[in-house]
Amino acid sequence: MNFQREETSWTVRRIRQAILFLILVVVAVWGFANWRADNHIFAWDKTVSVLVVIVVDPEADPEEDILRGFLSRFLSTSIAREINLAGVERWFESESSRYMKDPMKPLSLTARGPIKATAPPPLPPGEDASFLERWRGTKDFLGYFDSMSERERLVLEGYDAAIFVYFYDAAEIHKYAKQHSLASRRSRIGVVFSAVGPTHFARCATLVAHELCHTLGASDKYEGNRSLFPHGFADPERTPLYPQRHAEIMALGVPVSPKEEKRVNGLSECVVGKKTAAEIGWVE
Ligand SMILES: [Zn+2]
Repeated sequence: MNFQREETSWTVRRIRQAILFLILVVVAVWGFANWRADNHIFAWDKTVSVLVVIVVDPEADPEEDILRGFLSRFLSTSIAREINLAGVERWFESESSRYMKDPMKPLSLTARGPIKATAPPPLPPGEDASFLERWRGTKDFLGYFDSMSERERLVLEGYDAAIFVYFYDAAEIHKYAKQHSLASRRSRIGVVFSAVGPTHFARCATLVAHELCHTLGASDKYEGNRSLFPHGFADPERTPLYPQRHAEIMALGVPVSPKEEKRVNGLSECVVGKKTAAEIGWVE
């Protein structure tokens, strides 16, 4: 009798140990996969494919002629301009050729949409949110775009990165004042918010490039409204240092004096600085 009980408790112990071990293995594999995603750098030996998904706010009607006209200007691939996606591609091409000896087309952008959103996305967590609130908020926010991808059968896995551009009516700007653009390197998804209209497209294209750089591994190089010296400056070796002529893409400001910065309105004002180039793998 006693012997049997001992045998049973021994079996239970072994099962417990096996379960614990299995959990450890799963956590380790999950952690390693995340670490790899967080540290992934593209080899740039082939063109990186990017899906750009155009989403339109429920208040705006993508079937409306004016809006359709605006969107087709932004999506235009025939002539690269500062206000369209072809211009973003061209900008990456010219910036990468400053760093890589063997110039090739670094990025290829494929556009999908416009998709009409059924509801606006949840607000991302605020600056003073706790770690848990931040984690949950970011999860909900990215979850919104995940379920949209599923609903629209976007197959994000078929691309190296994806950027969602969420367009809202310029009259709704107050509603989106707190909605800032953001990106996740781990899931290689970026989200850009922009009012729709020709006057907003150049800035929007700049934000697409900025968020795209995040998904490729670049970090922000500003704090508050200030570009950080030296890596947030387009030309940190310039003498005199001010005024700078360009903005670093991960800082998005042109420091014109020690106290003053000009907001960037288009990609022609932006360059990829040395630190960003290293983070995304264009230089050692
Ligand atoms: Zn950023």
